[in-house]
Amino acid sequence: MSGGSGIKACALCGRAFFGTSEDMACGDCEGRYRRLRDQVREYLWHQPGQVASIDQISADLGVPMKIMRELMKDPRFKGKEID
Ligand SMILES: [Zn+2]
Repeated sequence: MSGGSGIKACALCGRAFFGTSEDMACGDCEGRYRRLRDQVREYLWHQPGQVASIDQISADLGVPMKIMRELMKDPRFKGKEID
C-alpha cells in the first residue's frame, strides 16, 4: 500500500471522494461507472486495430464526452491508444 490515495473528483458526479489512483468514481457512482467502462471496453474490443476517437465512442454509446474523457484517464485503460 504505497501512495496514490487521496481526495479525488468523481468522474460521473464530480463530487470529491477519498480513493486510490485506480478509483475513478465515488461510492454512489461506482456501479454505474463500472458499467460504462465495461461498455466502452467491449466497444473497443470489437474494433481490433482500429483507433476509435472518443467522439465516436461517445456518439455510438451515448456516453457524454465529459465522462468519456474521465474514462480515458482510468489507469485500467492503459495500453489502449485512443485519441
Ligand atoms: Zn459520483
